[in-house]
Amino acid sequence: MVRPDRRAELAAGLATVRARIADACADAGRDDSEVTMIAVTKTYPAGDVVALAELGVTEVGENRDQEAAGKAAEVAAAGVTARWHFVGQLQRNKCRSVVRYADVVQSVDSVRLAGALDAAAATGRDRPLDALVQVSIDGDPARGGALPDSADPDRGLGAVAAAVADAGALRLSGLMAVAPLGWEPERAFARLAEVTRWFRDVHPEANMLSAGMSGDLEIAIRYGATHVRVGSALLGMRPTLR
Ligand SMILES: *Cc1c(COP(=O)(O)O)cnc(C)c1O
Repeated sequence: MVRPDRRAELAAGLATVRARIADACADAGRDDSEVTMIAVTKTYPAGDVVALAELGVTEVGENRDQEAAGKAAEVAAAGVTARWHFVGQLQRNKCRSVVRYADVVQSVDSVRLAGALDAAAATGRDRPLDALVQVSIDGDPARGGALPDSADPDRGLGAVAAAVADAGALRLSGLMAVAPLGWEPERAFARLAEVTRWFRDVHPEANMLSAGMSGDLEIAIRYGATHVRVGSALLGMRPTLR
């Protein structure tokens, strides 16, 4: 399904990323079994997912429903089992599609979205869907993410987390964030760690922290990330910014 030279490229990318994660864990005094890499395969074909799975990578991230649904079906048809993380902005009318192939939705950022996802998961799957609340690190309501320290009934982090925790077809599993453009990753992930401490006091069982991408995974690991989402460092530069 994938050419040998592409397979070699992916193997080399994987070795590099694995070494970066191991070094970052060593520097942070953490065991590298504490950090899981999710391969963000957006814009790359199903064949790359199959090749990565053969190299031992079974956690896969996608950010667009239409692309992900087709790719997940192709990968399943190839007889490969992957664990699909939906990491992109999610519209409520896409929930019914996403719950059919996703194992984890990392981008729940409003009470209304939590409700739509719960309703879709209740009818569209036979086991609960793992859900992370996406946190807005800079608190800008114009962009994605639930708002820490906000009493907003739809977008406040406390309200969103409670809605997911109370949803019968969702399992609150932790937090996800992206460092805002223009912020030093250090400052962004320090702030995220502070929010995470507060969150775990309220929801101690929800201990995933998905943070860190190709450019900043070391810093995210220093600040407690349990999952890093790696695209370009593993698969190569994407042709378009998305
Ligand atoms: C694309 C994407 C990533 C991976 O980004 P890279 O910089 O290519 O590693 C991680 N998280 C989200 C939410 C993404 O959309």
